[in-house]
Amino acid sequence: MTDINRLLVVDDQADILEFIATVAEFSGYRVATAQNAERAFSLLREFEPTLIMLDLQMPDMDGVELIRRLAVHGTRAPIVISSGMDSRVLASVEQLGLTQGLNMIGNMQKPLALPDLEALLASQLVNALEPTERDLKHGIEKGELTVYYQPQADLALDGSVPVVGVEALVRWNHPQLGLVLPDQFIGLAERTGLIGELTHFVLNDSLTQLANWRSQGLKLGLAVNLSPLLVKDLDFPDQLSEMMRARKLTNSDLTIEITETAALEDPALTRDILTRLRVKNFGLSLDDFGTGHSSLTQLYKMPFNELKIDRSLGMEMHSSAEARTITRSLIDLAHNLGLTVCTEGVEQAATVDFLREVRSNRIQGYWLARPMSAALVPDAIARIAQRTAPQAISA
Ligand code: C2E
Ligand code: MG
Ligand code: MG
Repeated sequence: MTDINRLLVVDDQADILEFIATVAEFSGYRVATAQNAERAFSLLREFEPTLIMLDLQMPDMDGVELIRRLAVHGTRAPIVISSGMDSRVLASVEQLGLTQGLNMIGNMQKPLALPDLEALLASQLVNALEPTERDLKHGIEKGELTVYYQPQADLALDGSVPVVGVEALVRWNHPQLGLVLPDQFIGLAERTGLIGELTHFVLNDSLTQLANWRSQGLKLGLAVNLSPLLVKDLDFPDQLSEMMRARKLTNSDLTIEITETAALEDPALTRDILTRLRVKNFGLSLDDFGTGHSSLTQLYKMPFNELKIDRSLGMEMHSSAEARTITRSLIDLAHNLGLTVCTEGVEQAATVDFLREVRSNRIQGYWLARPMSAALVPDAIARIAQRTAPQAISA
């Protein structure tokens, strides 16, 4: 959204520019600022603003002239006038702009009030389909995040598919946008530093849920995704142990899934933390393997005990011989390195048969069940337990 919403602020006072820019960026705008009319006109061409905020009293050009030049330029973007001049002057300049064909949408009296500015920026946000940092921060604080769970099942030798665990997948119940999927906000959380709070919420919530299931006699393992940005905190393994202990859970009940470890800035520190997690008996899974993001060398260097084959491969296996060949090799490689394999994105019965043949240890995918709220998990597991194993068709 920041790329489609571009605000140009024209004002000769640096502190005002900075104030407006900060608020606007937080609201989802990309911002350019100009302290004189000449700069404003060159930005008009280069930056192509979708919204313009204009101070009427610039040192090199008065407001009336500025408006006239904007009209000559053929400016289409909505224009807001902000000025310390009295409201009748503002109204008459606005009228002047309108008669010249400009899209004058209002004026703001200086000093600017924060709520008015926020309301104005929000009202002009185009196609607000993507959440902003402000949204996410409030969302976390107001408890709009929730955790969904997707079952993972073993491919047992007798042909059954017993559910042995669930992966925690965060969702955001946004008041306007509805249920937002993580691909739309994990990146935002990582860029803005909110990922720590988000992960803390997911861990707390899902571990409490795991303990609840256990007290109801449902024994499950839990997998939680951890952003590589967070594998920097030397205290993390101890904090995690404490969270487990507080709920009378065993460390081996929890698997941490990590992708893209290759991108980590400090491999020595990462290895230190991951090794400590393993020494404390947490599971460690290399997520999204086979997408090109994960590097083979990480397999040797980092103490993973599970490899997760990416859903894009899982989804293609029934139709693509290449996907099957790659999967077969990855599973061999993983087994030779002493890792177990969980294959994601399993949607077809034929894929289950194939994965049994190539000895994937575990599966996850729509064929078993989609991610769901915690309340639906016990029933889903009971339903999966009723399933007869698909017949091997490979022969
Ligand atoms: P992931 O960890 O690889 O999670 C698996 C994703 O594949 C989930 O998408 C799941 O809904 C989807 N999936 C599972 N089975 C199938 C299938 O059979 N077919 C298809 N088409 N898709 C399937 P989701 O929930 O949208 O999550 C996307 C990604 O967001 C996750 O990928 C994970 O990387 C990230 N994520 C989710 N929750 C968290 C979190 O709490 N923290 C962090 N850091 N990342 C998270
Ligand atoms: Mg995952
Ligand atoms: Mg994955």
